[in-house]
Amino acid sequence: MSSEPPHSRRLRPALNAGTRVAAVIGDPVAHSRSPAILNAAFEATGIDWVFVGFVVRKGAAAQAVEAMRTLGIAGMSVTMPHKSEVIEALDSLSDTASRLGAVNCIEWEGERLIGHNTDGDGLLASLRAQGVEPSGSRVVVLGAGGAARAAVLALGDAGAAEVLVLNRSPERGRAAAALVPGARSVSLTGDPGDLTAALADADLLVNATPVGMAEGDASPVPREALHPGLVVSDLIYHPPRTPLMEAASAAGARAHNGLGMLVGQAAAAFSIWTGLPAPGEAMARAASGEPVGKS
Ligand code: NAP
Repeated sequence: MSSEPPHSRRLRPALNAGTRVAAVIGDPVAHSRSPAILNAAFEATGIDWVFVGFVVRKGAAAQAVEAMRTLGIAGMSVTMPHKSEVIEALDSLSDTASRLGAVNCIEWEGERLIGHNTDGDGLLASLRAQGVEPSGSRVVVLGAGGAARAAVLALGDAGAAEVLVLNRSPERGRAAAALVPGARSVSLTGDPGDLTAALADADLLVNATPVGMAEGDASPVPREALHPGLVVSDLIYHPPRTPLMEAASAAGARAHNGLGMLVGQAAAAFSIWTGLPAPGEAMARAASGEPVGKS
């Protein structure tokens, strides 16, 4: 009988010369939860893959893609600051990555490397897991950066009845709204009345700003602007409960953090690379820092 504790027993074979390597490139990467999430997925499915992180400095994305070709790295995740820069080194893009101008996942198709963007799929999966169907809903997206753009495109393509982008800088807001027909943007002036007016008839609020991550941050939306019937999706996952989520609960609205989206985008990458259904529960446990064990 093995003396190994059950939680450290591996279903997949031990690492060896045939083990396939997948990786995330970015700077920084030390904080990334992708290795924990994807190694949990490989372990749960018993496939002989391992996921590691590589610090790749700004300006070196194309060299990292060249290394992927040379070393035969089986799949690559891409994070800041390379999501746009990496595009020039790829052979082609998915429709979503092309429209967003940003790649977070690279796949082999024969000898060619294809760039995908799975953030929007991750958001939709997390909303649906919460019983929220974006089709026909009135959506407000706060922010206009990479996460906001993925949210606007995914929610618009999923059939949201209205998409309103609220952002500090008007140009970025307009560019995000231009991703889907009929979406509008409003620039934030600092007057809380802007938010109250924008959210009065909304069904779903997505916070795609980093406001709430830093200790001492206030909610980016005052409690008075939130209402029962609204679902608040804060894309922040650290801390797991944000000031916006607190304000939403106090106003009688439902709220969840960005962990579901994080797991959802990784699950989509796993399936793109391996062709297998993703073991969502094992991945979610790993994302929240729970021991992985057997699923
Ligand atoms: P980004 O590209 O830097 O965009 C940040 C956006 O937030 C910009 O539109 C910026 O407005 C706005 N913003 C920043 N500080 C603000 C402030 N103090 N007040 C109002 N607006 C402010 O960042 P990102 O990559 O989109 O990430 C945004 C958030 O989403 C982060 O918290 C990140 O952790 C989270 N995220 C989560 C996931 C997930 O899987 N859950 C995935 C990606 C990102 P301006 O345009 O006016 O500068």
